[in-house]
Amino acid sequence: LLEISNVHKYYGNHHVLKGVGLSVDEGSVACLLGPSGSGKSTLLRCINHLESIDAGRITMEGETLSYVERDGQMHERKRSVIDKQRQDIGMVFQHFNLFPHYTVLENITLAPTLLRRAGRSKAKARAMELLEQVGLSDKHKAYPSSLSGGQQQRVAIARALAMEPKAMLFDEPTSALDPELVGEVLKVMKDLANGGMTMIVVTHEMAFAREVADSVVVMDAGVIIESGSPATIFDDPKQDRTRDFLRHVR
Ligand code: ATP
Ligand code: MG
Repeated sequence: LLEISNVHKYYGNHHVLKGVGLSVDEGSVACLLGPSGSGKSTLLRCINHLESIDAGRITMEGETLSYVERDGQMHERKRSVIDKQRQDIGMVFQHFNLFPHYTVLENITLAPTLLRRAGRSKAKARAMELLEQVGLSDKHKAYPSSLSGGQQQRVAIARALAMEPKAMLFDEPTSALDPELVGEVLKVMKDLANGGMTMIVVTHEMAFAREVADSVVVMDAGVIIESGSPATIFDDPKQDRTRDFLRHVR
């Protein structure tokens, strides 16, 4: 579904992604691991058009998301194309970024009513379904500030799903949560994976990666140093740097 090939990204002189290649099959879950600063968030942001790339190609369902020629010529993309593609990729961040002055229900229906021009009642009905899916039906009238971090993150997931994305990107969705709230968010993500959603998940939750991931991808210093099944990566890593990293997070 998603094909990332030879992607380079610079921040000024800082070469942050150095030829990253990755392919994610439809309905599969890739967990992205790696030390701080290795480029995990940058890669997700490039996939979702939050950052432009400096070389390489990103496609989804064969449709080009980002493409830069070797000579550095950026292909001019229409704003409307970028917006449409961004709607097809849901993203959930470490900090939930809910709109504080809107209720839970409004947070979820806002984008679909504005961007997808879904009818208000249809958007609302879908939002209630999604709240049920994340276990928060009774909270639709609540404001984000009255919810726990785990509840807020589940609303953020429902909000992303309301756009009916083809893939979901998660950037350390449980890192900002108190330990006792991590499980409820991982459960929602696991259900989503079991339901066939294509997902890329940056996480330090190794038990989740082992159980849910179809592939585990290890990044270090802007390159993918190793990838494979959870069993291969966790039990029989080929790279010393993977072993070092796993020692630190375990
Ligand atoms: P973490 O595990 O800490 O979230 P990460 O793997 O997500 O790390 P990135 O956030 O992608 O790493 O950062 C990769 C490198 O790019 C880092 O050296 C970071 O300092 C740099 N970087 C990230 N965003 C920017 C930015 N907007 N401007 C300049 N440099 C940036
Ligand atoms: Mg990050």
